[in-house]
Amino acid sequence: MVKINIDGKEIEADPSKTIIEVAGEAGISIPHFCWHPRLSVSGNCRMCLVEVEKSPKLAVACATKVTDGMVVHTENQRVIKAREAVMEFILINHPLDCPICDEAGECKLQDYSYKYSRGYSRFDDDKVRKPKRVELGPNVMLDAERCIMCSRCVRFTDEIASKPQLVFTQRGDRIELTTAPGEQLDNPYSMNVVELCPVGALTSRDFRFKARVWEMSATESICTGCARGCNTNVWVRNNEILRLTPRFNPDVNDYWMCDYGRLNTFKCVNSETRVKAPLLRRNGDLVEVGWEEVIAEVVNRLQSFNKMEVAGIGSPFRTNEDNYIFAKLIKNIIGTPHIDFLSYLEQGEEDDLLIRADKTPNSLGAREVGVFPNQNGLNFKQIIKAIESKFIKCLYLIDDRIPLTEEFTSALVKIDYLIIHATNINKLTAIADVVLPASTYAEMNGTFTNFQGRVQWIKPAVATVELDRSLDGMALSRLDKFGAPNDRWMKWNKRDARPTWRILSHVGSAINPKFRYNSAEEIFNEIASSVEAFRGLTYKKIGSRGVKIRQKVLANTKI
Ligand code: SF4
Ligand code: SF4
Repeated sequence: MVKINIDGKEIEADPSKTIIEVAGEAGISIPHFCWHPRLSVSGNCRMCLVEVEKSPKLAVACATKVTDGMVVHTENQRVIKAREAVMEFILINHPLDCPICDEAGECKLQDYSYKYSRGYSRFDDDKVRKPKRVELGPNVMLDAERCIMCSRCVRFTDEIASKPQLVFTQRGDRIELTTAPGEQLDNPYSMNVVELCPVGALTSRDFRFKARVWEMSATESICTGCARGCNTNVWVRNNEILRLTPRFNPDVNDYWMCDYGRLNTFKCVNSETRVKAPLLRRNGDLVEVGWEEVIAEVVNRLQSFNKMEVAGIGSPFRTNEDNYIFAKLIKNIIGTPHIDFLSYLEQGEEDDLLIRADKTPNSLGAREVGVFPNQNGLNFKQIIKAIESKFIKCLYLIDDRIPLTEEFTSALVKIDYLIIHATNINKLTAIADVVLPASTYAEMNGTFTNFQGRVQWIKPAVATVELDRSLDGMALSRLDKFGAPNDRWMKWNKRDARPTWRILSHVGSAINPKFRYNSAEEIFNEIASSVEAFRGLTYKKIGSRGVKIRQKVLANTKI
């Protein structure tokens, strides 16, 4: 370790680190554009210039290692003047189109302009014009005039995504970012360059021009696209999810997420195909009914079968709380040992960065909280066979996202009574006898356990009727913040979905009044006191970054 002094603060530092890293760890922020903690150092933007005593020139903080006795100034007159010069230089050819730029509100250049620039330009010549709408690939658009040549995107594609698809051409003020000849910016992680870009040069083709940043709320959540469970922020305006962005978690996804998770895991929440009310099959057709009627019907029918004729299918897309309550309902209240779930594996669809072959967020958790057959119970394959042979007559599924193999589909046609919790209308809901509208991951509290055994917390980002009525007023306070309910809100607010655990609590308490739960947290606390792997955990302990459940217990888990 070495001793250095930054802005009068004595710091013990690791000599392998640079001034910008050591300062950051000590809470001293040095402005920068091109430096990023996970990319190689390019030192080209010059925004992080600092004064090092006894050094004739200003030093580039991102490229200068700390040495013993070093005295650094990050805010003196010389440094401030240099920063102003750098900002003036960067802004010479910048189009200054913040009013129409997607990045406005979260742009480093805009923020630094307020903080570190003189506020006026001495440049009164014509600016260099460059293309403003370049489709770099299927998901990313370039506005070349806004690019400040920091090279973060180039380094990301090369060093993190291992697809060197971006390059610079030309020199000086004609320099331009482009794709390599014959290439597109097209890789599973291409959209991370949108957040990496410190200005509005790279934008998401899916999100651009949809909303200003300050019009949206951001709620911490977890991606449901695979067993990695990348940490995300869910961005919402008027109860509609407009984008997902990665949330930093060094133990799970670092700064990144994949394009699949970013684009394909939230549109089903907004979709017009959502199941908006409970559906019961009457005279061959599914008709909308009220909650009381549907719960009474489900309970009656469940009790009309011999308990061994009933089987339950849990879901790796549903939370630990949902699966725990389901296992308890099936095994203890209905009293059948036949319960299992199906993971959704895509062999070969895995890489060394983030993407996992298991395309569900909670396989590990579903098993851990009890979704497996009891002694003499049937597993998933055996349940299908038992339906074919008419041994199992009633099937209860808590999710509609289950691979519809030929074998499973042909068995389902033979079932006497099919109960499904569903978020969206699809092939499976079309053949169900009862469809119970379930909240999506974005509308409820709960936890998932990722493939590493890390328990992570999801929180409601958008509201349903249920959320309005029963939770903490969060949805209404959002409305206050973002304006009066509009037509779209009113339409969606008719979406009377409920969290799966709550639906199961309704069903269970109609059979045994003691089976009643009022919140996801109450269920989690019960899991933490009864399931060894979760012992002692609370939502508070899980926090924003998650907690790994105990390895010893996990090792005993058969998955
Ligand atoms: S497009 Fe953005 S990230 Fe890429 S070099 Fe330009 S400013 Fe940097
Ligand atoms: S790697 Fe998996 S969890 Fe992460 S963003 Fe992609 S699909 Fe979602």
